[in-house]
Amino acid sequence: MDIIDTEEKPQSYFFFQLFTIITTFSSVPIVLFVFLQEPREKPESYPAFYAEFFSYFYCFLFFLWTWAYFTTCASGQTKIKNAMIGFSGGHCEKCKITKPDRAHHCSACGTCIAKMDHHCVWTNTCVGYYNYKTFLLFVGYLSLGTYTYDYLSYEYIVAPDKFNLWIALKILVYLETAIVYITTFLATALFSTHILMALINLTTIEYIKGKPFIYPFCYSEIDAAANQHHLGPAVNWLEIFGKNPLFWPIPIQHKGKEDGQFFPTVPLPNEEDYINFEKFF
Ligand SMILES: [Zn+2]
Ligand SMILES: [Zn+2]
Repeated sequence: MDIIDTEEKPQSYFFFQLFTIITTFSSVPIVLFVFLQEPREKPESYPAFYAEFFSYFYCFLFFLWTWAYFTTCASGQTKIKNAMIGFSGGHCEKCKITKPDRAHHCSACGTCIAKMDHHCVWTNTCVGYYNYKTFLLFVGYLSLGTYTYDYLSYEYIVAPDKFNLWIALKILVYLETAIVYITTFLATALFSTHILMALINLTTIEYIKGKPFIYPFCYSEIDAAANQHHLGPAVNWLEIFGKNPLFWPIPIQHKGKEDGQFFPTVPLPNEEDYINFEKFF
């Protein structure tokens, strides 16, 4: 559920954020103290090694996506400066600034957002230039985590009577599991869509405003004309994740040299710029 450029007053989606935090934090004790109960008591009835391995793997993913989540929340509403002359994306009446290229005013945040993608209610902030990397990592680790949870919940779902739980706790586990199953579907869809969009350097707003979706590795001159920010999948990736692969999986912010003010477009000024694209990021 995303809100883009509406005329409403700034508004908080704290309830959605709270829901996300509560459901994600509840999943860890359920994995460790409910789903592992049966294999711990009767290892022969369950592939206990895998259950233990996957439950700790789940905790590791939980740590990563929680980190990515809070980094995304914290950096979503970074204030942007007046655009440098020549790179304007128009004037914002509300912020009284000349917007940089690809910036948009978000009514929910009440400010202009650099390379705004969409306003995400689950993080209660905007997804844009300053947090797109951590947003992708958050959704990616979350997707993988939900599959791990789905695997761990299998024994409980097929034979819940084996587990000695109070009825209220049983209902809570069912409720949490239903939410995680829905999240598996939603997070996978969101992650796969955004990875494809990252590879073609297209934001959700630009897509809504008419820029075409191109399959990342089917790149042609016509596509370049349709989306001038599309510099090829590898360069697009580096623009978001930075040059050092060691930092790609770590949920820390990546900011380029241009700080969300300027985005190179094709054709680049010189032929060598395609090889020395680092100068832009
Ligand atoms: Zn604005
Ligand atoms: Zn926003």
